[in-house]
Parts: sequence; structure tokens; C-alpha cells
Amino acid sequence: MRRQTRKLKLGNLYIGGDAPISVQSMTITDTRDIPATVDQIKKLQEAKCDIVRVAVPDMDAAKCLEQIQKQVTLPLIADIHFDYRLALEAIRQGIVGLRLNPGNIPDAWKIQEVVKAAKEKGVPIRVGVNAGSISKEKLLEYGGPTPQAMVASAKEHIRILEDLDFFDIKVSLKASDITRTVEAYRKLAKEVEYPFHIGISEAGTYFSGTVKSSIGVGMLLAEGLGDTLRISLAGDPLEEVKVGLEILKSLKIRQTSPEIIACPLCGRCEVDLIPVVQEIEESLSTMDKPINVAVMGCVVNGPGEAREADLGIACGKGVGLIFKKGEIIRKVSEKEFAKALIEEAKNLK
Ligand code: SF4
Repeated sequence: MRRQTRKLKLGNLYIGGDAPISVQSMTITDTRDIPATVDQIKKLQEAKCDIVRVAVPDMDAAKCLEQIQKQVTLPLIADIHFDYRLALEAIRQGIVGLRLNPGNIPDAWKIQEVVKAAKEKGVPIRVGVNAGSISKEKLLEYGGPTPQAMVASAKEHIRILEDLDFFDIKVSLKASDITRTVEAYRKLAKEVEYPFHIGISEAGTYFSGTVKSSIGVGMLLAEGLGDTLRISLAGDPLEEVKVGLEILKSLKIRQTSPEIIACPLCGRCEVDLIPVVQEIEESLSTMDKPINVAVMGCVVNGPGEAREADLGIACGKGVGLIFKKGEIIRKVSEKEFAKALIEEAKNLK
């Protein structure tokens, strides 16, 4: 069962409570390059990303935020470290969310100013603890970047905000290893009601990072932990979104496109099935229907699975059978396998 969390508003989107679990990514363009950043955000939106975070390393970048936000509809979060002036400018520019650790801002009055401005504009703040950037004191106290140290660090940042009567908080506790990350979230879940932003940080390249993130994020989601997520991959942010959505789909938490069931192939397969599956998957990835589609490689065991799906095809040598809700509806020739199935998926009510 999903953990009960406090719901907060991020622009036109809700996070936590009963809101759908959202998928985030981060632009890798220079934020000061407005056209490139807008272009990347639009591509992320097409890939069905829900929220985009942009790095705000300096004042020039902060001053571009309004123009960027004006050209896109996705809620944008400004990622800010240490400099309270950047946070104030980002809020002035109309950003709808901040990622900022208040404990890293040295003077109390500076954080008070940021919190006051965030409260006035209804801008939530994500406290993002990363195992790699825990304070020296906490490392000494807990003997390293342990889950306990991560939780203590998050609570310290949270307390600063709560003491200023600010509760629109989201929290992330990321480490690059799964065990520590999961342990930290489990611990904090027992202590606060704030929604969690989950992910495994610096997970790796597309292949290794996908495996690692799927396990880590999957474990958390399976325990009901997580209200928004980001898959951190060293690569194209579009891939991060694809992987995030696929994880949610695999766990039957949220389905934004058809689920493809494909047979793993074996010696009984007499057709070139892989390109057929790829073409179907690619073409259906933009479709909004929450259906499942089975693509099977023979007429011996294929029909069973194809019959179970909303739509299925059992591909035999030269000819395939298309099933809709358990019934055979069409016989198609080998060169039409993908085309015919895609056509039927589009027509499916
Ligand atoms: Fe082999 Fe047919 Fe099963 Fe595919 S559906 S794995 S080809 S037996």
C-alpha cells in the first residue's frame, strides 16, 4: 500500500497524497542557452515527462528562467546550491519549485528570505540529501555516509523549514548504492509525512544505470515509498523518462502507454521476430491506451499468450493470427505483422 503523504502543489501538478506518481528529469543543456533548454524540455514533455529540473549555477542562469518557463507548460524546478540570491531570483522569475538544502545556506536571515518568498508564491522546496555531500560533522557522528547520517541530515534541513512554518516540503535521500538508499527512505518514512522524491543517484550509464535504478526504485515503490521519481542516467534525459515510466508500468502503478509482452524466442520461432517487436513497441510508445499487447513467435505456444492479452499476434512462418480480447480477428501475411497489429491497436476502443 502506498505510504500516506502530505499532498503539495507544484505549478499545475500535485505531488504526494493520492496524486499519481510523477516522473522527473533534468535538462543537460546550459540553462543560459534558452532555445536549447526550451527545446530539450519540449522533447521531455513529448516523452511524457511530468516535471523538469534545471540547474541554476549563477545569476545569468537564474535570469533566464522566466523566459524558459513561458515557453513550456511543464512545471520547472530550479536546482540551487548555497546561494540564496539565486533562489530569490528563481522565485521572482516564476519558477514553481525549488531544490535547495536550507542547511547549506550560511546565515539564518538569508534562508528566512527565501522561505518567505517561497511561501508567498506557493513554491515547494525539495530537501535533497545526497550521501556524497553530507556534512563533516554528520559523517563523524555516524561513522560515514550511513542511512542514519542521511536521515539525520535530512531532518536537520527539514527542521529549519518547519521552524519557519514552512511545510511544502519534499525529500530525497539518494546514494549511489541501492541498500543504503532504500534503508534511508525506510527510516525517514517512519518519521515524516512529506512526499518522497526517489531515485538512485549517479546510477551509471544507460544499461547499468537502468538495471540499478529499476531494482532500487522498484524496491521502494513496491513498499509504497515514492511520490515522484527520477532515474539518474549518464546519458540522454529522454532515456531517464522512458525508464521511469517503464518501471511504473511494470509495477502496474501507472500506465502511460501499452504494455508489450514479447516471447523470449526459441528454436520454434520461424520468423524474424525482433524487428517486428521493436517496430510495434516504438510505434505504440506514444499511444495513451492502457492496454497490453502480446507479440509471440510461433503458432504452437504463441496463441495462448496472445489470447490472454487485449491484443496479440502469434507469428507463424508466412502467416500470423491476430487476437483481440481472446478471439481471432485476422489472418495476416508475414510482411504485415507489425503494420496490422499497430493498426488494430489504434482502432481498439
Ligand atoms: Fe518459442 Fe513459441 Fe514460446 Fe516464442 S511463443 S518462446 S517461439 S514456443
